[in-house]
Amino acid sequence: MTEPASPAPQAGRPVVLRGGTVLTMDDAGTVLRDADVLVVGDRIAAVGPGLEVPEGTREVDATDGVVLPGMIDTHRHMWQTAMRGYGADWSLTQYFVWYYLEHGRRFRPEDVAAGNRLAAVEALDAGVTTVVDWSHGLQTVDHAEAAVDALQSVPGRYVLAYGNIQAAPWEWTADGDVQAFLERRRTGAGDLLDFQLAFDVTGDPAFPEKAAFEVARELGLPVTTHAGVWGATNDEGIRLMHEHGFATPGTVYVHAASLSPDSYHRIAATGGSISVSTESEQSAGQGYPPTWQVRAHGIPVSLSMDTSVWWSGDLFSAMRTTLGADRSREHFEAHLQGETVTQLALRAQHVVEWATRGGATALGRDDLGRLVPGAKADVVLLKNDTSPVSFPLLNPFGHVAFQAQRGDVHTVLVDGRVVKSDHRLVGVDLGAVRREVEATVEHLRAEMGEEVWQAGMDPALPEGKVLDNPYQYTDYRSDSTHAAREAAYGRHLAGEH
Ligand SMILES: [Zn+2]
Repeated sequence: MTEPASPAPQAGRPVVLRGGTVLTMDDAGTVLRDADVLVVGDRIAAVGPGLEVPEGTREVDATDGVVLPGMIDTHRHMWQTAMRGYGADWSLTQYFVWYYLEHGRRFRPEDVAAGNRLAAVEALDAGVTTVVDWSHGLQTVDHAEAAVDALQSVPGRYVLAYGNIQAAPWEWTADGDVQAFLERRRTGAGDLLDFQLAFDVTGDPAFPEKAAFEVARELGLPVTTHAGVWGATNDEGIRLMHEHGFATPGTVYVHAASLSPDSYHRIAATGGSISVSTESEQSAGQGYPPTWQVRAHGIPVSLSMDTSVWWSGDLFSAMRTTLGADRSREHFEAHLQGETVTQLALRAQHVVEWATRGGATALGRDDLGRLVPGAKADVVLLKNDTSPVSFPLLNPFGHVAFQAQRGDVHTVLVDGRVVKSDHRLVGVDLGAVRREVEATVEHLRAEMGEEVWQAGMDPALPEGKVLDNPYQYTDYRSDSTHAAREAAYGRHLAGEH
């Protein structure tokens, strides 16, 4: 049965992806060549070659493509997507100053909604079917309502991790309106929306965050926390959580990049998981991306993009940078001992697992992150017939981790519903999303004033210095004095050429 060229998507109609290379991400890591994936309702009905399908099933040609489970991002500040790319040259300190101290308060409920909607659309487009919205810009319950409404307007799977950087965790979690909001929006939310609480633990020996953990426990919500962030959170926070009984299997530790082995032991022993944001850790400075030591402790890993104020929200770059950072560190540590790494410990398959079933594990969802009968039908087809990077498809995991990119995302299903088809999002009014984001940018720009707005994008440079070079004992050109070179270096850094 063949489809017309541009079929209108119909909810509830079975879908079969035919003839692809299927990464099932099952426990055995099974890869099937020239296989089909049949979706009936919101579930995977069957996986295998030459499947018989019900009458009226929609056929998608997956030949020369890779079929994998929808990817899962366990930590993304979606509201910040309205500021896409603005902080590309920020350090973590500059991020904190901008959002926490100076300008985060300027975001109105509609600005949080604008960022969330854009982030949600971007995620679907890139094959990220589940996102944990680490939503720490919720200054009021109105902001929270707007955040959730925006998520629910885009047909992905979300976990709203409620947070508020403008108040202490023990303050905002004690707010009856916040608790009532969480109870109300959870009720009847269905399978596509869940909740967590999002706050950080400073390591204050008085452990004031205890009250916030107790609220989470009362509400039955997992906690996600930025842990092991250089200069912000450290081993003390982990120790306090552990000793007070709040390090639990549902807890997600974000970054966990500057922790001691003792903290990793505590996390491993209590069944928590770590969300690694490699691009973030590399640029912002939370610590070295920790997978090289986390995997030695047997702690489950998931991947995340953190915030699009720096990076784009696709997990291809997360897989690629995580694999690179891990291997880079492995070589580096060996070279310090005068040794050579001859066999790499982290394989492409591992980062594909972290981007799919690793996220499912972090969220306690065994029915996500794998293409097996009975699992939820969150499915991605990578296929790009016009791309010279699409063939030969020799090593499927290597292909996904190091060769593929978001432009290769051909088809996406969430909960059995086709949300992207033939490289196009289905039923998304991108113009409306754009106008909403433009209104937010205009509002912030007007509030801040042009000078402050521009300065925020152009943080001060550290003093540059060209090192003395013992081989340059004669000037080969009259102007090549040390001072002239330093001045030239300064101009280069300032963007002049
Ligand atoms: Zn974060």
